[in-house]
Amino acid sequence: MAKKAAFKKKATKKVSVKKVVKVVKKLNGPQQTIESLLELIRITSTVVPDDVFKAIERNAKNEEKNTTADYAMGIIKENIDLAKYKSQPLCQDTGTVIFYIYHPAGFHQTTFKELIKKSVTLATKKGYLRQNSVNSLTGENAGTNLGEGHPSIHFYEHKGSEVEVKLVLKGGGCENVSAQYSLPNTALSAGRDLEGVRKVIIDAVYKAQGKGCGPGALGVCVGGDRADSAYYAKKQLLRKLDDSNPNKDLDKLEKEIVETCNKLGIGPMGFGGKTTLLSCKITSANRVPASFFVTISYMCWAFRRQGIVMNKNFAIKKWLY
Ligand code: SF4
Repeated sequence: MAKKAAFKKKATKKVSVKKVVKVVKKLNGPQQTIESLLELIRITSTVVPDDVFKAIERNAKNEEKNTTADYAMGIIKENIDLAKYKSQPLCQDTGTVIFYIYHPAGFHQTTFKELIKKSVTLATKKGYLRQNSVNSLTGENAGTNLGEGHPSIHFYEHKGSEVEVKLVLKGGGCENVSAQYSLPNTALSAGRDLEGVRKVIIDAVYKAQGKGCGPGALGVCVGGDRADSAYYAKKQLLRKLDDSNPNKDLDKLEKEIVETCNKLGIGPMGFGGKTTLLSCKITSANRVPASFFVTISYMCWAFRRQGIVMNKNFAIKKWLY
């Protein structure tokens, strides 16, 4: 038991600032960057963020005791505990690897990209990531998680002086039930307004039942072209589950959708019950008058999202979630 407890401590601890400072003395910039990114990947793959865990715990308490939903939520919590305990991936599918990097002016994106690739290769070797990325035409698996378009890397110049790296590991099963609608949709009587948006989001959740490993968390974009709409929808998954939308109408809609979907009786894994959705986060992007897309990015219970702020030596200064 004592051994288990010691192991737990070792496996789950994020690198402390104190420890990082020690490491910085030994490592050069690129080595330190790889070390920090590797730790970011390890924690993202093995530990759900606090806000997600709290949402799962809170919803688990709402399920009726000794029902299949209660059992399913219990298994999900056990899975989360075990992955953290053993520092092993939360799910066998470690997903599409998506990096969002916010950096000051003068930052060398090309160099950083190469270091990300090295970290991803190393994380794959260590088993934090499954050998998950295959050539879409040949099916060939390089075994490194590197290839055309993978990992997905997005850079943004910001006004701050520090480098922030956010990472999402997006499972394939939940990606498969993500959806895009073009409004108006006559079959759903969904027009080009927020009521229409509400209808198509609920339709997507209804169609996802039993697939995509619910309870789900949604990122939604109203508008944009087809590609941007999908990009902004997925980016909503960076928001904490307990935040509020600065747009009052969207905030109201987000809450209504979670409430409505949790009354559909779909429940965790589609087994029935009260926990169908953990959250819904909605943004909007301008569109041309001819189009009105609504894109829904569906995330599974294994909601892997984490982020770090790096210090000037590229060691981890702070965790973001
Ligand atoms: S949808 Fe999520 S939980 Fe289900 S298999 Fe994929 S990554 Fe794992």
